[in-house]
Amino acid sequence: MSTQSNEGLTVGTATAKPGTVARGAIMGPKLAGGVAVEIPVVVINGAEGGPTFWVNAAIHGDEPEGPLACMLARERIDAAKLRGAVVLVPCVNPLAFSAAERGNPLDTFAYDMNRIYPGNADGYFTDRLAHAHWEAMKDVADMEISIHSGGAHSFLDKAIFVDERPESVELAKAMGAGWGCIMSNFTKAGSPMAAMNNAGKVGITVELGGRSYTSPERFRYVGDELAKSIVNICYHYDMLDGDATYPDDATKGQQEALLAPASGIFLPDEGVDFSIFPQLAVSAAQVRANFDRYELLDDQVRFLEGWFADTLPTAPITDLAVLRLDGDLYQSTMDALTALYPKLSVGGYVIVDDYGAFPSCAAAIDDYRLEHDITDSIVSVDWTGAYWQRTS
Ligand SMILES: [Zn+2]
Repeated sequence: MSTQSNEGLTVGTATAKPGTVARGAIMGPKLAGGVAVEIPVVVINGAEGGPTFWVNAAIHGDEPEGPLACMLARERIDAAKLRGAVVLVPCVNPLAFSAAERGNPLDTFAYDMNRIYPGNADGYFTDRLAHAHWEAMKDVADMEISIHSGGAHSFLDKAIFVDERPESVELAKAMGAGWGCIMSNFTKAGSPMAAMNNAGKVGITVELGGRSYTSPERFRYVGDELAKSIVNICYHYDMLDGDATYPDDATKGQQEALLAPASGIFLPDEGVDFSIFPQLAVSAAQVRANFDRYELLDDQVRFLEGWFADTLPTAPITDLAVLRLDGDLYQSTMDALTALYPKLSVGGYVIVDDYGAFPSCAAAIDDYRLEHDITDSIVSVDWTGAYWQRTS
């Protein structure tokens, strides 16, 4: 944990003495025409020592909710009562923000700033900007959140991306009540949180808002919710006095795309009927017929209809020689492993159809193996299939 001295905490051109707030800028690269680009920064330095909590916003320029949240959080955090420091970077990507676009329109080749961390001092413009930002952040920040909000293309409702470490999940839960949708990060590199992870620190990516929430009232609501979370994190890590709230129904999973079955406007309801996806809706009679066609249907075959989570824990199985998984998704793969792996005999085989095809499936396999200390080598069958032999 970093601690501030009496000389104060310095980020870019901003130096805040203990118990004070300073504004300044992280100096970025110059444009071709000679204009210097600066990343604005607000340093709230607590009167007493503690961790440094760093907040990034508007890495994507079409996401104005994060800057609003920083503005509101600034009003709510009293430096005189703070232990440690809060560094607010309300607009990491100023040219993208000025253009209200996801990336800087002047930079074609490093357009998505959230994929290029820790940046590159010799790279394209946005690589250099990310490098300047990272250099300012890497030694100062103990923990980091990047605020996103869907952007021009989508709406996202209180979702968090974490890495696999408990401290990352702890920071996610410290976002507070309502923030229970916690997902494994699908980009293992390139984001500020990934760079923080590689530096042995902790970061998360949070999402709330997006295109349908930019009416003044909803915009203010989203900014307010995010600002409350920034303060809640200060409560959780004992940087401010106050009672933190937590999500009461936190679940960890994986992001999946739910694709419309036909082109047009997709209006999802609660209780989406997956049977409308013809490739996923196969009758029990059809499954029986397929077994029969390959002469595999006899009295020993049992079909269990229903969700893996409901049917597999009580499946009429005692010992397995081969466990063949084809769950596609994170939870379905995890449900099957949890119920059936303990029944796999030592010397038996696990075959996973989707290990290479779906990152969500691979994440479930990796999580389960990590949690249960399974170190048996995974062998590739082809571009997607894989297996291992249980040796203990
Ligand atoms: Zn974003």
